[in-house]
Amino acid sequence: MATTSENCIFCRIIQRQMPAKIIHEDETTLAFEDIHPQAPVHFLVVPRKHLASLTEVGADDEALVGHLFAVSARLARDRGLDSSGYRTVVNNGERAGQTVFHLHVHVMGGRVFHWPPG
Ligand code: 5GP
Ligand code: ZN
Repeated sequence: MATTSENCIFCRIIQRQMPAKIIHEDETTLAFEDIHPQAPVHFLVVPRKHLASLTEVGADDEALVGHLFAVSARLARDRGLDSSGYRTVVNNGERAGQTVFHLHVHVMGGRVFHWPPG
């Protein structure tokens, strides 16, 4: 079954129907701690608007996606990750490792990251 805003866990977090450690919110975005952190710092930044992935981003969403990354960078700086470096990741599609089909930026830091990713 395709994920829609009706059965989407991130929409449920946005609507406060499901708990999450929210670290930021504004008119168009929300950020919260990842439930299974893969690094000492690991949070997710999501648009309030339900977009399944970058594939669904249209011309009308370009400012939103820009803001999503600006917020990611601001929160990374607030968490003291600027000097040590950090990884931002957007998985698109199952084969790329996407498991939640609501667009999200992973922000990870506090350890060394290798390249290329697996
Ligand atoms: P993806 O694999 O789609 O790129 O990333 C989905 C991320 O969402 C994973 O890192 C996973 O740990 C996180 N996640 C899945 N379900 C929940 C949840 O209910 N709450 C929170 N805070 N994170 C979740
Ligand atoms: Zn959603």
